Amino acid sequence: MQQVFKPRRNQKHKRSSRRLLFLAGLSLICLIILGGLHQERGLASQPLLGRVEPSTSWQAGSFPVENFQAYTSPFGYRRSATGGRGVEFHRGLDIAAPDGSYIRNWWTGQVLKVSDNTACGTSVTIQSGDWTHIYCHMKGRVETANGSRYVIDRAGGIQIWEGQQIPSGTRIGRVGMTGRTTGPHLHWGLKHGGQYIDPAQVLRAMYNQQVAAGPASNYTNQRD
Ligand SMILES: [Zn+2]
Repeated sequence: MQQVFKPRRNQKHKRSSRRLLFLAGLSLICLIILGGLHQERGLASQPLLGRVEPSTSWQAGSFPVENFQAYTSPFGYRRSATGGRGVEFHRGLDIAAPDGSYIRNWWTGQVLKVSDNTACGTSVTIQSGDWTHIYCHMKGRVETANGSRYVIDRAGGIQIWEGQQIPSGTRIGRVGMTGRTTGPHLHWGLKHGGQYIDPAQVLRAMYNQQVAAGPASNYTNQRD
């Protein structure tokens, strides 16, 4: 209802957001099939969302990138991403997006940690109730002022402090190549109650609800 008198610019933005969501949703179908194959081989960890109430509302969630291109690596076991013959467990979903494009906070929460000295690269970890969401390989670095740590990406106009409250849909960084990565993408990790889960399942649930809600849906991936 609040959406009726939005200016045209927002309507346009909304349409492009919905196109993005549609594209992301279609790609998810492929990803879920892939994930299903992993499960049949007994490799994937416990799927969480099968146990979540079907009535759970995902409407407040924001899709984590602005310029979705493709899902480049699903959650679960895979061959080593950076060469070698080893097998590793990939604790997140890789979402390719153009270098320098913006990353958005999935769910309102508090910044638990910022970091720039692991394979995750420059990263922000946000806590929202039982959920922990992790964003890796961003541009920028960690700095300290008056004993507080923050991620700074000056060219992107981003400054995120540990302990800060961040609303859903807020720009929290830009896609980069820090840490262990072979191309620009967002590695998006998701934990529930401390356990890593498949972020694609959450995105699928969000997508399904958005489609069911129709054109009047109040999807939060519309902020400027
Ligand atoms: Zn990854």
